[in-house]
Amino acid sequence: MSHGFDTLQIHAGARPDPATGARQTPIYQTTAYVFRDADHAAALFNLQEVGYIYSRLTNPTVAVLQERIATLEGGQGAVCCSSGHAAQIMALFPLMGPGLNVVASTRLYGGTVTQFAHTIKRFGWEAKFVDFDDEAAVAAAIDDNTRAVFCESIANPGGYITDLDAISAISDKAGIPLIVDNTSATPYLCNPIKHGATLVVHSTTKYLTGNGTVMGGAIVDSGNFDWSASDKFPSLSAPEPAYHGLKFHETFGPLAFTFHSIAIGLRDLGMTLNPQAAHYTLMGIETLSLRMDRHVANAQKVAAWLEADDRIEAVTYAGLPSSPYHDRVAQICPKGAGALFTVSVKGGYEACVKLVEGLEIFSHVANLGDTRSLIIHSASTTHRQLTAEQQEAAGAGPSVVRISIGTEDADDLIADLDQALAQAAG
Ligand SMILES: *Cc1c(COP(=O)(O)O)cnc(C)c1O
Repeated sequence: MSHGFDTLQIHAGARPDPATGARQTPIYQTTAYVFRDADHAAALFNLQEVGYIYSRLTNPTVAVLQERIATLEGGQGAVCCSSGHAAQIMALFPLMGPGLNVVASTRLYGGTVTQFAHTIKRFGWEAKFVDFDDEAAVAAAIDDNTRAVFCESIANPGGYITDLDAISAISDKAGIPLIVDNTSATPYLCNPIKHGATLVVHSTTKYLTGNGTVMGGAIVDSGNFDWSASDKFPSLSAPEPAYHGLKFHETFGPLAFTFHSIAIGLRDLGMTLNPQAAHYTLMGIETLSLRMDRHVANAQKVAAWLEADDRIEAVTYAGLPSSPYHDRVAQICPKGAGALFTVSVKGGYEACVKLVEGLEIFSHVANLGDTRSLIIHSASTTHRQLTAEQQEAAGAGPSVVRISIGTEDADDLIADLDQALAQAAG
């Protein structure tokens, strides 16, 4: 029986607790699990039987969250981990190796640009940044050493929408997996797998939890990629020495990536999500569609008001007809363009600082996807490590502020912006 999104966001993966009948998913606050006997323990360690050994790898509360996110994204399986940045490393880890590269969009969360431009070099991995609106450039950037293509569905910081159908056609043709960060859209607004994504990554820290309480990440596997079609992905297709020569793809089929991420990724990288955090995120996801509808309605209203205001130079919200990305809303995220956009303020850097400091309801924080409305001057914070060129390419130049619209009364948000803009202009 197939259910709608509103039903699945509450029920997928969960069932009354078999031991107590508890209706809500218990927080299994335990490190280890008692084996039935020595044979059971051996079968679990050999991956011949699925079960719980140790919470660095698997935990029943986290498992419910994994199944819920996989279901909402339309994937075969999912693995949760300690943060969105951990999810990105966990997604690349089975694919990459020294000398190999990922072709990545220039329009990404600032921390991701830094992680890809600098930190992954320590592993001998390289990121090649390309404008993903230039399809020929994306295709040209893929070479023999490319093992992944990476972009955001609704991209930071300007809420730009990536043409996932066009990008997945390019990655498919090259036989390379497409990884889509779906944090800003959530599976309610966009299902990257339907548009050809191989893997979907999330910072569950943002809209999925929804209220700025806990950090977390997830990697969802579509199960659609043939890891054995070439010799490019030996972690998944070739014998694994740490499991007596087991081949993940041959053994686990469409769940190969998920099993690898647990059995090797979590086991050895240890970027585990704790069950308390999983609990908060499960609570958040129960109301995801309700919140996203309000986030989108508010963003639409506030963006339209800002665009019409004389003190504003430009608003990037793709929900506005003036946006060059407006046509992609119906294609990629038909329920709305999210709630993230940038605003350039007349008066440049000085006016941006005064606007940020003059707001009362909006909080000045380095976060997005909260019930609270948030604002940040990207160039001096989240995108500070970037060069001036990278900032402009990302849409985070010095005269731009990034806004994440919350679920408050839209009229209150507009009144707050109005009074702060008056201060900024004065
Ligand atoms: C926040 C964010 C990340 C990083 O996630 P953390 O949970 O902060 O590690 C990655 N991608 C996007 C789009 C984000 O918004």
